[in-house]
Amino acid sequence: MNLGKSNSVDWAAERARMVEHQIRARGIHDARVLAAMAQVPREEFVPEPQRGDSYADEPLSIGCDQTISQPYIVALMAECLGLKGHETVLEVGCGSGYHAAVLGMLAGSVVAVEILPELAALAEANLARTGRASNVRVVVADGSAGYLPSAPYDAISVAAAAPSTPEPLLEQLKDPGRLVIPVGDRFEQDLLLVRKSAGQMSTRTLSGVRFVPLRGGHGWR
Ligand code: SAH
Repeated sequence: MNLGKSNSVDWAAERARMVEHQIRARGIHDARVLAAMAQVPREEFVPEPQRGDSYADEPLSIGCDQTISQPYIVALMAECLGLKGHETVLEVGCGSGYHAAVLGMLAGSVVAVEILPELAALAEANLARTGRASNVRVVVADGSAGYLPSAPYDAISVAAAAPSTPEPLLEQLKDPGRLVIPVGDRFEQDLLLVRKSAGQMSTRTLSGVRFVPLRGGHGWR
């Protein structure tokens, strides 16, 4: 639904509908994840002219050939990390800052790494305007190598598709810790949940997905 004049939209009602029909109906049950999705104003992270579609069941353009993920995928990725509220989280691929804002509501602190300075500035502005910047820090860097200054992390969430799970991310994950990442080719990937526990790694496939490519030293060159 593109309503054009987005200032006449009841965003809270749109958001509540999105949570019921796209998130809860598809099996996301973590009450904290549902609450975060019901509170973070996605419309503030979606640029005009896409704003009227903020709660559509699809990814949307955020400029620079990048996209903000479909709301359900954000919720699925957040839920599988099993966050309780005290964790240090790394997000790779901050984009608009929306996903980082959701993670910020679920964890203690978030370091959100973005390789494109223009999008990092957009994310910072979006997070500040929506009052979400207090525990979310945006850093311009190649997150395919993780972000060593704040490592290790209880959880890592990668929002761009990698050819394989970058070794530095596994190294910067605490034990126990969880990492969610789309792995595959440039067009189709499996969303993987990697768990580190007692020195062992285990991997589970959550869903088939389509993400934009991860660039950088451990991504697609
Ligand atoms: N999570 C974002 C959407 C992610 S789109 C949101 O909520 O809006 C994927 C993002 O990953 C893009 O912004 C892209 O520039 C970024 N990206 C790609 N490769 C990267 C890398 N190596 N390090 C950090 N960011 C990267």
